[in-house]
Amino acid sequence: MTELPARRLLLVHAHPDDESITTGATMAKYAAEGAHVTLVTCTLGEEGEVIPDGLAHLAADRDDSLGAHRVGELAAAMKEVGVTDHRFLGGPGRYRDSGMMGVEQNDRPGAFWSADLDEAAAHLVAVIREVRPQVLVTYDPDGGYGHPDHIQAHRVAMRAADLAADPAFHADLGAPHTIDKIYWNRAPRSVVEERFRWMSGALRHSPFGTPAAVADVPGVTDDERITAEIDGRPYKAAKAAAMAAHVTQITVSGPLFILSNELAQPIFDVEYYELVRGEASAEGTARETDLFAGVERVTDMAEVTAQ
Ligand SMILES: [Zn+2]
Repeated sequence: MTELPARRLLLVHAHPDDESITTGATMAKYAAEGAHVTLVTCTLGEEGEVIPDGLAHLAADRDDSLGAHRVGELAAAMKEVGVTDHRFLGGPGRYRDSGMMGVEQNDRPGAFWSADLDEAAAHLVAVIREVRPQVLVTYDPDGGYGHPDHIQAHRVAMRAADLAADPAFHADLGAPHTIDKIYWNRAPRSVVEERFRWMSGALRHSPFGTPAAVADVPGVTDDERITAEIDGRPYKAAKAAAMAAHVTQITVSGPLFILSNELAQPIFDVEYYELVRGEASAEGTARETDLFAGVERVTDMAEVTAQ
């Protein structure tokens, strides 16, 4: 069995660009610190709207070649944050972007939203049993903002975490592995509100006109639910560069960005999480500042090899 770095972090996201927007600084930090960071993206984001006019032909209702293009954007983004292990669930194109909730693409054959849960989870079980992460990051049950692929990414990640630990599930996919800590990607309401107040002034110095609303930020929740905050300020530039690499989806200007709806949002360089499985190691009501805090089994591979 090959040796893996002591700390191993797995992130499960729905489309190329989600990883950079919501967890880019966290990924950059752990990669820089020598942890093994694995990104699993569930779809190619084929249904995304395209910002640059020159690339508009890629869209699903024209050439329908956006997915292949976004594979390249994701690779460029991962270079910016120093993550070399990035994969697509079941391989590139196995699951297709389902589009927004309620559109006919939800039911299209191959759409991630209509995927069989255990079949999709089995692809992730194979990754979990291979890289043996102590920490998993994914979305809350609403997928952060109700997008079908984000909800499905949450379901698949949670299901795969259970199945990966179950010796009775697909022994052919590798030795069982239990993930120590599972976090949902979140944003504390008071911080988001404060940043939006700040942005109303910052917009004067930016090319963007209209601000987004607090509700447009994925995962906004009550402050009390946040159990961990990762200070990504040293990785602010890397995060912004990763976001900007998603050229068809994001335009970055200084500390702000827009999606295809052209509504300005602040880039968060501190990223927030809610621990939903495992022990929080911070004292009292303090937030953890390290997703691996309290994880003891950093030499898990050695145990596995010894068996
Ligand atoms: Zn997404």
